[in-house]
Amino acid sequence: ASQDTERNEIERLDREYTLGTWTRQRDFDPTEIVDTEGPRIVTADGDSILDFSSQYVCTSLGYDADRIADAVDEQIREVPYVNPGWSTEPRARLSEKLAEITPGSLKKTFYSTSGTEANEVAMKMARAYTGKHKILSRYRSYHGATAASLSASGDPRRVAQGPEIQPEVPGMVKGPDPYAYGSSLDPEQSLEYIDEMLELEGDTVAGVLVEPLVGSNGVLTPPDDYLPRLQEIAHDHGALLICDEVMTGFGRTGEWFASGLYDAEPDIITMAKGLTGSYQPLAATTVSEEIAEHFEDNLLNQGHTFAGHPVACAAGAAAIETYEEEGLLENAREMGAYLKSELESLAERHPSVGERRGIGLHQGLELTRSEEKRVPFEERSDKVSGRTTVLDEVGAHALDNDVYFYTSVNTIVVTPPLTITEDDVDEAVAALDEALEISDAAMEE
Ligand code: PMP
Repeated sequence: ASQDTERNEIERLDREYTLGTWTRQRDFDPTEIVDTEGPRIVTADGDSILDFSSQYVCTSLGYDADRIADAVDEQIREVPYVNPGWSTEPRARLSEKLAEITPGSLKKTFYSTSGTEANEVAMKMARAYTGKHKILSRYRSYHGATAASLSASGDPRRVAQGPEIQPEVPGMVKGPDPYAYGSSLDPEQSLEYIDEMLELEGDTVAGVLVEPLVGSNGVLTPPDDYLPRLQEIAHDHGALLICDEVMTGFGRTGEWFASGLYDAEPDIITMAKGLTGSYQPLAATTVSEEIAEHFEDNLLNQGHTFAGHPVACAAGAAAIETYEEEGLLENAREMGAYLKSELESLAERHPSVGERRGIGLHQGLELTRSEEKRVPFEERSDKVSGRTTVLDEVGAHALDNDVYFYTSVNTIVVTPPLTITEDDVDEAVAALDEALEISDAAMEE
């Protein structure tokens, strides 16, 4: 897929009249996609690109989920929309299913349309339930793009916002991440730090909001006992554990939810992306029975026109059936094991790969210019400034060989659809093998 070809009419119109996300508009120059097949997207020039990102880690079902297309088609003809005060079958069935597949006593679901909103809702419910106002999250994290969820993020995108555009929402405190490779604290110390922070904040923290496995900030993978211990620490201080599973939910790690993988029982889980395999925009905030009970007599003062949209819920219910009937959690575990071993062998062969991290089909390679000193090729500020980095060059080279990876915060994120085969892994790994020669060559002497 060459980025050098002339813009076609659609690309020209899009460039002229659409504002691109997260970018200076000068750098917004999108390639038109006209078709999809399995795990591939096809450009207007006819390049068929193997997508090992699942776009934004969300097209977990690939592009051939006919069951969802049929469910959407049927629902859109029967009841395309009623406001959330009415009941529809897809919403009721989906809510029941979510109670079944989420861990612990999670039971009731509040719907919205993006991961960002699901987190806003979670924070608001935690505050209402506990009567406290602060949220503790971590620096290397992304929770969304609107005021509170961006303020809860530690991502470079939060820093780029700047106080002149939008000051951060008050009441957000941030602690360290479990990041043995790149932090001066080991995961154990990072937990002790959070424990101490909660102590020092007094009885003011409503919820501890974390991605169980950090996604876009480097695929950080904690030790197995981290999440249950964090839950204990949060509860000891009267705070809820809120797991942002927007990226890790729906089989990405081989379990329905990463918190299930770690035997943790969050009080609230937020989800989006894989919930419908991104065939429709839908997000959800699922809460424990106790939290739901609180709102029996207290106002749940939140709502969206499109909350529980019947067509989106029909897509969600059909997506869950697809994961189940096609054995995609199993495939994520099997292909994840194979992908992991192939990535490990890349990490051994290429000195510029500092570390492989991840579980299942949620994998990442962190690059380094110096193996010994673990110096990143891409600083966190590079994303914000839009500077082209060695990481970008590695991604562009793979794309020239028709394999697409999401690159973020010095990490090649390797998160294919759950439908992939060994041949797909081989094709992607071969492209990466060649692309990593660029970073190897750019290392310090
Ligand atoms: N949380 C996490 C962990 C995410 O990865 C994302 C999106 N990348 C979000 C929240 C925000 O979701 P959305 O873009 O749907 O608002």
